[in-house]
Amino acid sequence: MDLEKMTALELAEKIKQRQISVLDGVKTVFSAIEKNEPHVHAYLDLYKKEAYARAKQVEEGIMEGVYTGPLAGVPIAVKDNICVKGKKTTCASRILENFVPQYNAEVIDRLEKAGMVIIGKTNMDEFAMGSTTETSAYGVTRNPWNQEHVPGGSSGGSCAAVAAGETYLALGSDTGGSIRQPSSFCGVTGIKPTYGTVSRYGLIAYASSLDQIGPVGKNTADCAALLEVIAGHDPKDSTSLERKDLDFSENLGQRIAGMKFGVPKEYLAKGLDPEVKNAFMEALKILTEQGAIVEFFSVETMEYMIPAYYIIASAEASSNLERFDGVKYGFRAKSYEGLHDMYYKTRTEGFGDEVKRRIMLGSFVLSAGYYDAYYLKALKTKALIKAEFDRAFEKYDVILAPAAPYTAPKIGESLKDPLAMYLGDIYTVAVNLCGLPGITVPCGLDEKGLPIGIQMIGNCFGEKKIIRSASAFERGRGEFPAPEKGGRER
Ligand code: GLN
Repeated sequence: MDLEKMTALELAEKIKQRQISVLDGVKTVFSAIEKNEPHVHAYLDLYKKEAYARAKQVEEGIMEGVYTGPLAGVPIAVKDNICVKGKKTTCASRILENFVPQYNAEVIDRLEKAGMVIIGKTNMDEFAMGSTTETSAYGVTRNPWNQEHVPGGSSGGSCAAVAAGETYLALGSDTGGSIRQPSSFCGVTGIKPTYGTVSRYGLIAYASSLDQIGPVGKNTADCAALLEVIAGHDPKDSTSLERKDLDFSENLGQRIAGMKFGVPKEYLAKGLDPEVKNAFMEALKILTEQGAIVEFFSVETMEYMIPAYYIIASAEASSNLERFDGVKYGFRAKSYEGLHDMYYKTRTEGFGDEVKRRIMLGSFVLSAGYYDAYYLKALKTKALIKAEFDRAFEKYDVILAPAAPYTAPKIGESLKDPLAMYLGDIYTVAVNLCGLPGITVPCGLDEKGLPIGIQMIGNCFGEKKIIRSASAFERGRGEFPAPEKGGRER
């Protein structure tokens, strides 16, 4: 039995049948970590001792019928912006280097109730701001497919960990694409749920109106199962929804014949790498071969998506990050004179360049005199984008798009020109602005052997449709390869 190749659901099934133990799964993950972590660096913190002890406890719990769910006994990694009680939660920032939360995020309680085993915390862009995992204060994560390349971001650690076999499942967070884009770059699957489906309680906020936690895994079925574990109403999050349709795996095996898929024409015009476009067009064929109807339509608001997103996200970020003042959370500058100087030096030393850029941009667009010209306009633009998606969903079950205009860039290339990097989020940000669910599934490799993903976007509450479509696509596509052990050498 090759434990490394198993999906999370297969692993849990074998555990249930007593063919393997919970500890076997945990050991498999830690042996991959030992082998690959020196060059991948997906994790910021590992809970080896705790995971071994927890494995024993879960094993007993399964035998006693405490843990009966489909993911009981499965190891999982958690992005380091999600609070785990008593464990450092840094957001990959110096300013939180000593922060140890006194409580669990709601999703962590849910993982525990499901009998899952938390392996450790994964690397990310600082405060989830970035597209490459290079803005982490604790070093870059490397793409397991090729160590010269980034894993994408901001949930790059979570996606790289799944790709490298260093976990079976992971949690990421997605504010403007941070689950879907790194999933594409790492050849794994990731879901951004409808806004309000997963509690944000204990997720350190970046842009509260856009943030959602979501699953990353080896395939759609695994992600759907994990989404069932973490989704659900939470009174501790005022934006949490009371949904009744949380059985996301229900339509997994269903056919897609007759379903209507829409592709925004403008998404395939300038700026899209030809290799990504080819892989995307091939993916459309796989869908039509199964009887799906694929049509092209026009999106007029495309050029406003990035500006609206970066204004709204930065505005909310500048306000959310006010609380890191050297008093409440861990880090404080060593020498200062008086209160203002303490704030100033703490924030100067504690935040990295990208975070500072967002705070300054956000404070600017919210300031008197500029609020109407930028922030309010961005909110109005968001409403127009939403109206356009609403119209599209009158005609289509699912909207298809690439996950990113290119495959994983080389390490060091993106941060030279942050504005150009922002443009790379073109296919993902509208989904957050509109609160929609989206999934990325691997659909090909470029000439360098780097993965390409296709994104399937659903209407609000349309998770089941995109999950059904993604799993039908997987069946048509066939098995997707895993990176060669440890990826290509530098
Ligand atoms: N790359 C986008 C940004 O930097 C999205 C980040 C995210 O989804 N957390 O804002």
